[in-house]
Amino acid sequence: MTIGILGGGQLGYMLALAGYPLGLHFRFLDPSPEAPVGRIAHRVTADYTDESALDKFAHGLEVVTYEFENVPVQAARFLAERVAVYPPAAALEEAQDRLREKRLFQKLGIPTTEFAEVLKRSELDAAVQRVGLPAILKTCRMGYDGKGQWLLRTREDVEKARLELPEVPLILEKFVPFRRELSILGVRARTGETAFYPLVENHHRGGILRLSLAPATELAAGLQMNAEDAARKVLQELNYAGVLCIEFFEVDGKLLANEMAPRVHNSGHWSIEGAVTSQFENHLRAVLGFPLGSTAVMGFSAMVNLIGELPEAQEVLRVENTHLHFYGKEPRPGRKVGHVTVRADQMEKLQGRLQELPKFFHRSEFCLEEALPGALAKRA
Ligand code: AMP
Repeated sequence: MTIGILGGGQLGYMLALAGYPLGLHFRFLDPSPEAPVGRIAHRVTADYTDESALDKFAHGLEVVTYEFENVPVQAARFLAERVAVYPPAAALEEAQDRLREKRLFQKLGIPTTEFAEVLKRSELDAAVQRVGLPAILKTCRMGYDGKGQWLLRTREDVEKARLELPEVPLILEKFVPFRRELSILGVRARTGETAFYPLVENHHRGGILRLSLAPATELAAGLQMNAEDAARKVLQELNYAGVLCIEFFEVDGKLLANEMAPRVHNSGHWSIEGAVTSQFENHLRAVLGFPLGSTAVMGFSAMVNLIGELPEAQEVLRVENTHLHFYGKEPRPGRKVGHVTVRADQMEKLQGRLQELPKFFHRSEFCLEEALPGALAKRA
């Protein structure tokens, strides 16, 4: 059985690594001749808009999925006329536009931050009036990792942003003083079976995820259930198959949905070693219609992204119960080039192991020093 994957980055790489033990084969399509999956799988280099390449790519595939959420919806639709495509193209369409995504949450009764659309620059004042300050202005499309965003605290910020704004659809969101960011990974199989991983606590710096702690501790009663309900509603509404991630802000003991990703997610990488079945294996099982694997956790896990720089493998692996993943990408500032997962059967042990790590990373952009006090102070 050959699975087709649109996008050939690290998520695709880890999907293939999870699929080989199941006897699966992989064919990737990515516009870049440097896409990391080239090291381990058959890679087609073509644009997502190249219909003759897509047609050829689809030939003989069992199912097509994607690891990159900005794949043009049209490419997914074109392929869906030839082969099963999961998650469905509609999920891509919803997730690629922040306004559509927030409206979907709203329609399904999933609480979000207050928001207003700013379809033209001239609508900015009315939106500020409605939502109030402070607020965050975001481009509706193609913004990720904090790009295409303006934090508006004062009237002066509004005036300054007005001069910089591109003439594209925007969304203005109320700035919420969140306690922390949490995410849930839900998975739904083609058979309708669902499973959920525990909520994970995420720490960002410069708009990039640095550290995930799984499972999130000190959760108020009901939050896990609320997150699962939210994910279940979206999975059902979209007749979804595959892994879906929803990111939340925890505010006053409640969850507000911020965004979703219709694919395996960076905040689920810990599951490779920290859960009975990884998000990657469960995504493959789901899109193939196989039974899902257990999402139970094995102790506590911390996932630390390697950004812009690779450490010496032997230095990192010296820390007990630590696993290293290099993605085969050329290090560049701000680029995710790998991750480290540290496990322990007790939170205190996990903290100790994490604190052994920074000395290997002090030169890098990796920022564990900054993420850690925030993450661990609450439990000290
Ligand atoms: P996003 O691209 O929506 O994930 O936003 C990037 C980061 O900006 C998030 O991880 C938050 O730290 C912050 N952020 C985004 N939206 C809000 C908001 N409405 N209130 C407070 N912080 C936010």
